[in-house]
Amino acid sequence: MCATISTHAFVLTIGLALLGCGSETSETASPLPRDASPRQPPSILLVTLDTTRADRLGLETDVVETPALDALAARGQVFSQAYATAPMTLPAHTSILTGRYPSEHGIHENGRRFTDSESLMASRLQQRGYRTAAFVSAFPLAAEFGLASGFDRYDDDFGDDNAERPANQTTDLALAYLERGGVGPLFLWVHYFDPHEPYEPPEPFRSRYPEDPYLGEIAFMDQELGRLVNAFEARFEATPYRILVAGDHGEGLGDHGEALHGNLLYQGVMRVPLIVVGSGISAGMVAVPVSTRRIFDTILSWAGDGDGGRSLLGGAP
Ligand SMILES: [Zn+2]
Repeated sequence: MCATISTHAFVLTIGLALLGCGSETSETASPLPRDASPRQPPSILLVTLDTTRADRLGLETDVVETPALDALAARGQVFSQAYATAPMTLPAHTSILTGRYPSEHGIHENGRRFTDSESLMASRLQQRGYRTAAFVSAFPLAAEFGLASGFDRYDDDFGDDNAERPANQTTDLALAYLERGGVGPLFLWVHYFDPHEPYEPPEPFRSRYPEDPYLGEIAFMDQELGRLVNAFEARFEATPYRILVAGDHGEGLGDHGEALHGNLLYQGVMRVPLIVVGSGISAGMVAVPVSTRRIFDTILSWAGDGDGGRSLLGGAP
């Protein structure tokens, strides 16, 4: 009994001492350092590129120019053998946002609804104090299909036809959100849909790729990705941040008789771009095959959630 009383008295004494110390030094405390500690959770930008083949980017071919992606690749980690978990938008994104294969998360095709909301990346980040926002560009990712949980804002307004919106409009909305600012680290997910059929790039990209409008869509999307990355880096230049860009799946483009995607599992529809850039990440190329489901562990480990066991960067930074 005496020991219990003694312990309480000790805790009370220490508590009062801390309160007193805080009040005496608050006006003379140093300002927070401008260059934050590496342990500070970084703001995170996740960009998913719909229907984007790894071999239709400037990294791997000269038939299309993608200067924004090239610039990210030049200073980040490039995963040259990254694979989607499914050749379809909703299953592939559900894997990215849960870390699970379709056989585990249960979303085998578009149009289903994911219900395990607490397991989603945004829910986990929100619980760790992140502000969370998503700007998606096509109906397969509409909020009704279950991936919106955990986002403070989930923008899925696709206009009058409720089908898709072009990358410039999605980027404008994301940039407006960034300009509003906010306190604490941010998790921002932006999804671009342009390379999905129909292939109808705006000018000047339509004229630049008259024989292959799919490439025109890729180049247009790259231009908007550049705007987004520039704005994000300007917004968080004084604090840690990280950027991860990945395709959700590719496109058949006639390979093996498949024009689009969703049925076959050849390289054209399964191998996707995957690039990681940001504070503390050096340039390099990883040729080991990796699944895009590992994006989940990668991003959560940056936020200090989990042990990063399947992180693309080999564990928590
Ligand atoms: Zn897709």
